[in-house]
Amino acid sequence: MIKLYNSLSRKKETFTPINEEVRLYTCGPTVYDYAHIGNLRTYLFEDTLKRVLLYNGLKVKHVMNITDVGHLVSDADTGEDKMEKRAKERNQTAWDISEYYTKVFKEDLKKLNIIDPDIYIKATDTIEEQIDLIKKIEENGFTYTIEDGVYFDTSKLENYGEMANLKEREAGKRVDIKNKKNPTDFALWKFSSPDEKRQMKWDSPWGVGFPGWHTECVAMSEKCLGIPFDIHCGGIDHIEIHHPNEIAQSEAAYGKNPANFWIHGEFLNLKDGKMAKSKGNITTLSSLEEEGISPLAYRYLNLTAHYRTKLTFSKDAVSNAEIALLKMKEKINPEEFLEEKISEKYKKEFQEAVSDDLNIPKGLSIAFAVLKDKELSSAEKSSTLIDFDKIFGLRLDEKQNAVPEEVIKLAEERKKARLDKNFQLSDEIREKIKEMGYLVEDTDSGYKIRKIS
Ligand code: AMP
Ligand code: ZN
Repeated sequence: MIKLYNSLSRKKETFTPINEEVRLYTCGPTVYDYAHIGNLRTYLFEDTLKRVLLYNGLKVKHVMNITDVGHLVSDADTGEDKMEKRAKERNQTAWDISEYYTKVFKEDLKKLNIIDPDIYIKATDTIEEQIDLIKKIEENGFTYTIEDGVYFDTSKLENYGEMANLKEREAGKRVDIKNKKNPTDFALWKFSSPDEKRQMKWDSPWGVGFPGWHTECVAMSEKCLGIPFDIHCGGIDHIEIHHPNEIAQSEAAYGKNPANFWIHGEFLNLKDGKMAKSKGNITTLSSLEEEGISPLAYRYLNLTAHYRTKLTFSKDAVSNAEIALLKMKEKINPEEFLEEKISEKYKKEFQEAVSDDLNIPKGLSIAFAVLKDKELSSAEKSSTLIDFDKIFGLRLDEKQNAVPEEVIKLAEERKKARLDKNFQLSDEIREKIKEMGYLVEDTDSGYKIRKIS
């Protein structure tokens, strides 16, 4: 049995797919810049969710969109289009910007061992579907037009913003109302302003312009999955604006909520607050790699926190995750893997934990219990952990990155010697490690070990 926390009911519910195949839609990146590791936490949580569904023997059809138009600087429909703004700054076309950052995004997902979605779909490839959707919403009487676009009238929908408790919350009163009828009304179609030379624009029954970001996801999910589908995911920030607006449009056009489950992942934070592009404090996966930290160490760090709790990022935390991952890999021998050697008792415990609203931290502690269990043979330990790795996604079945325990032990001793400022001892240990065929390198956040090739 799978239990998942549904943001709609604010409770854990038993998950049963509508049809045989689970239909999953995850809001994708806005491709005007590199994804930061906070964004990547959201994609990692979604990947874990998908892995849990697959581990339970379900088939999954996963769709992720690429937002390449219409996402304005503020989620509440104000400011410039992020893509156009970046294109202007770089003196490039918006299409080139989109192509480049989409490519890097997909590479990041690969490095993190995130399973590819079955379908990637671009907003600019579904303009027609979005126009059709707006037409339906208009026919049903939920729209009005003002000088800068066609808007959704949120007052016409009885239960608008229910998921976010918007009616009761001050936060729902979005500022910058201009000529909108209600503060929470949002743009379905924006007109190209006469004093702005947009690159991405299309004809529509209402005038030349571009679709609103909230409209894209509704049209794309309906096109690829049909509605209602099973699960819609995103980061926790979407509970307040983007997702209520998606639900509102679907209710207005089709008379139903597009998804049965809405699941949201908590943010990755820094000690002094949130990591955000607008704050200029972002870390990317490549910058971690430049410091000698492997993407899978970042993945491991994510497994240590439940997806609905905040995770505070620090260089120390990710370095410790790297060491923990190395230690785990050292204890596993992929050559010993045999299906029949998987411990049934531990597998059952593990499956229950991860299926209980993705309790991966508990899953990790079960993995450690397996490794410590003196009753289990080495082949049983390796086989069970490699099976668990269908959820962890740490590539535990690949041997080449494993570092012998003895080397890790020496590296830890060397770290202590350096902290004690005993540099002579630290150098001696480094030499010893070198003789064993490994190089230990110091980084800002600790150390890195690599095999001398
Ligand atoms: P964007 O590319 O800005 O549309 O964001 C992509 C995804 O990252 C969205 O689902 C956001 O909710 C999510 N997100 C943004 N910042 C963070 C963060 N600091 N931690 C976790 N997820 C985030
Ligand atoms: Zn979306």
